[in-house]
Amino acid sequence: MEAEVVIVGAGPTGLLLAYELGLAGVPALVLDKAARPDEQPRANGLVGQITRVLAYRGLLDGLPVPPVAVPRFPFGPLSLELDRLPTSPLHVLPVPQRHLEELLGDAAIRVGATVRRGHEVTGFEETGDAVVVRVQGPGDQYRLTTAYLVGCDGARSFVRKHAGIAFPGITSDEVVRMARVTLPPDEVDIADGTLTARGVRLALMRPNRTATGSLTIAPQAMLDPTAAPDVYILAVAEPLSADVPDTVTLDELRESVGRVLGTELPITGARWPRVTVANSRQAAAYRSGRVLLAGDAAHVFSAGGAALNAGLLDAVNLGWKLAAAARGTAPAGLLDTYHAERHPAGHRAILHTRAQAALSVAGDNAEALREILGELLRHPGPLAHLATLMEGAGAGAWAPDALAGPAAAYAREQLRVGGTLLVDTTEGAELGAVVGPWRSHLTLVEAPGAGVCALVRPDGYLAWTGETGEGLPEALATWTARRGAGT
Ligand SMILES: Cc1cc2nc3c(=O)[nH]c(=O)nc-3n(C[C@H](O)[C@H](O)[C@H](O)COP(=O)(O)OP(=O)(O)OC[C@H]3O[C@@H](n4cnc5c(N)ncnc54)[C@H](O)[C@@H]3O)c2cc1C
Repeated sequence: MEAEVVIVGAGPTGLLLAYELGLAGVPALVLDKAARPDEQPRANGLVGQITRVLAYRGLLDGLPVPPVAVPRFPFGPLSLELDRLPTSPLHVLPVPQRHLEELLGDAAIRVGATVRRGHEVTGFEETGDAVVVRVQGPGDQYRLTTAYLVGCDGARSFVRKHAGIAFPGITSDEVVRMARVTLPPDEVDIADGTLTARGVRLALMRPNRTATGSLTIAPQAMLDPTAAPDVYILAVAEPLSADVPDTVTLDELRESVGRVLGTELPITGARWPRVTVANSRQAAAYRSGRVLLAGDAAHVFSAGGAALNAGLLDAVNLGWKLAAAARGTAPAGLLDTYHAERHPAGHRAILHTRAQAALSVAGDNAEALREILGELLRHPGPLAHLATLMEGAGAGAWAPDALAGPAAAYAREQLRVGGTLLVDTTEGAELGAVVGPWRSHLTLVEAPGAGVCALVRPDGYLAWTGETGEGLPEALATWTARRGAGT
């Protein structure tokens, strides 16, 4: 077997999965059909729990700013005023996607992954205990045998289609033309979260809806402090017509702005033009035998900000489980918990992004919805509920938040190195006697009197808590790798 795990796609999801596998002792092979990383700018940052997971893993050490709990964040056309809450539950990290991919790629290679660019996966067959993968390399075609194949190959995933996994959902009835545009500083006035140009006043960072479409604009420097101050990220949505062009010229972009606003903006240049039609879809299954899906291959969303959070959290959930399965040390059923945990999480992200899309449409009904939801969001309960939904943490208790005192500190330290942690707070260090066959697969910390005992999974979720060893053997048997286990 050439590699225990083959990952298709060296985007952020594939690279983080390769890192997670390496951390758990399984060096992955990553194949990407593109000869070099895509230079086209995509995400400007991360939103949600993944920011904190990556920080605890130590993967953001090279960045100038850590994740922050934000005082405000858009929810479709509304603004969540999170500074009304004692603590904002929503975390963001401004980092261009390209830079994030460099950090993740370097980290994956450091823990033993191999990344082959210019290698396209063109077919695969499962043979019972392995997957035979066909690859078109820069020169020849070749075959690889692997225990598991993971499709991190984006929204149009070949792996998903070839595995016959359905991708149900909806396609937007709007086409979006977007680009990084230049607006001359002397023609633009920015104040109080708005931009005024040629007599038109626009809210920044949120869709500005008119009868003919909507326009979203933000200075790029709001998201990337190194950006030139006259560069803006512009997206113009209009009803979908029969032909969707592949790209958009500067004149077409100006015309689209004119149709939506009724007047043109003083756009003097455009870079990275792009035309998209939003999809909101989720793979029916994240696992089919020895083939798994993660990231955009598993889900795409109709509003910004959710995709990387969902995709990268897939990778963190899957990595340690797949490593144990590939080594043959996983408890029975462990790998199936990937779909069981991450499919509902993807569905929750589908829900809030579709709700944002529904709130953004024109018309009196949507206006009423915006007004009522706006009223509800002045109350702390609904505001915290929605922000927590957008944070996107999976179901269950996450040790850095759920534990207190020294136990929480041990959990945070453990997240840097990965692996399972057992914090034994009993006076007589009683748990050591229970862990027998799992002992070599976990870190045991004895901390008498430091709160509850806890078994913490490699992704930081609590597998068990208790005052004594009651229930611990069952939790260990469900969640923890051990020698001689089977998948
Ligand atoms: C303009 C734009 C702005 C965005 N802004 C945001 C944002 O603000 N926040 C956010 O969360 N998300 C944003 N997104 C979405 C985000 O970019 C994606 O969610 C993210 O790239 C998905 O990562 P991935 O690794 O799952 O897939 P991708 O990044 O799509 O990577 C898939 C990789 O698979 C490779 N591949 C495909 N087929 C094969 C094959 N057969 N063999 C080998 N390799 C293959 C491709 O070459 C590619 O490198 C934005 C997207 C765009 C286009």
